[in-house]
Amino acid sequence: MSAPVIADGAIVTDGQHILSVASWSAVRTDYPDIPVCFFDGVFLPSLVNSHIHLDLSVLGTIAPKNPEDPMCDWIRSLMQRRMGADFSRDDMQKSAEAVIQDQYQSGVGIMLNISNAEIQHENHPLEIISLLELLAPTKAGQQAVIESIRTEDGNKQLTAHAPYSTGPELLSFIKKHCKKQNSLFSLHLAENEDEYALLADGEGCFVGFLQNLGAMDGTFPIPIVKKKGMLAYLDDLQLLDEKTLCVHCVHLDEEEIARLAETGAHICLCPGSNKFLNVGSAAVESILAAGVTPAIGTDSIASNPKLDLWQEMSIIAREHPQVGAEDIIRMATVNGAEALGVQDTYGSLASGMGARFIGLKSSVYETAKSVDELLGLLVSSGRPEEIVWLGSPDREGMR
Ligand SMILES: [Zn+2]
Repeated sequence: MSAPVIADGAIVTDGQHILSVASWSAVRTDYPDIPVCFFDGVFLPSLVNSHIHLDLSVLGTIAPKNPEDPMCDWIRSLMQRRMGADFSRDDMQKSAEAVIQDQYQSGVGIMLNISNAEIQHENHPLEIISLLELLAPTKAGQQAVIESIRTEDGNKQLTAHAPYSTGPELLSFIKKHCKKQNSLFSLHLAENEDEYALLADGEGCFVGFLQNLGAMDGTFPIPIVKKKGMLAYLDDLQLLDEKTLCVHCVHLDEEEIARLAETGAHICLCPGSNKFLNVGSAAVESILAAGVTPAIGTDSIASNPKLDLWQEMSIIAREHPQVGAEDIIRMATVNGAEALGVQDTYGSLASGMGARFIGLKSSVYETAKSVDELLGLLVSSGRPEEIVWLGSPDREGMR
């Protein structure tokens, strides 16, 4: 990810960090006496899943029933299942752990977990950054959440859900909290068209949804969104900087993408979830052309039946044939590491990086006649079953 592909390459580690990445002949000369393991396949950095909700794992996949209104219909079903709560805290923990294990087996080395409930994940081989997600669409609700942060959650790493579910005072309060902690701020943004309809015009599927909850109290619409657009609103609240990760970004126009690029904010694509909820496909070509280097996330099992970054990569390749395979692999590795601020440890194979990386082994890759062809095959055919973890099994001391 940080240098050209090396044929017949070798990686030297001290168990915690990579010391050298070079051709096997160069490594054999520089390190003549070290023990060697041979792997007959493709080395890659471990993958970075930049968006998942582990606490939703217990709900299983929720198919939207109404094709006219898939997103609101899906949220309604999700809330019903959550409120029904026919599962215990232990069930929630166990199903999250099963997902963590699957993620690790598919080659994920680190992920960003956005959850409303706390999941214990210290004893797992992959690293997880967890942010507690908050939302409140009414004035009273926002004040109550702000008060609870002041009194109970002051030391927690927090984030906000989305502009359609979280009012401006709370968005601003949470971002300030993140700035104070120098932590990531992740926000679902422009996942479907109804978000803009609510904020600009007080229309769209979220209106009925919020009315049913008794939560349309005049917070929405928001005048600046109609006058100057969604990005101006987020700018006005000072939400956008290099520590902000905007997730989905399906319905951003060229101007909005350009503004996002100027702020240094990151984008996380969730193509599998977008496809499942039928909300459209992000303008990946425009995002890349604007100089944004998008990350990829699986989102939760509730909106994506298969939590597999290899599948996410293959969906992008199919939906955006103009986007090169190398760019797509970067999304699942180095771009994700940069979005999460862990690029010194994860995302590329280079001296000084963490000594945990993956190998892929399949006869398909042996047919590749060029580097481009090999990268294309990885993106279209990579499978969790092909993954072998290499380097040290211990992640302690890597960062
Ligand atoms: Zn999400």
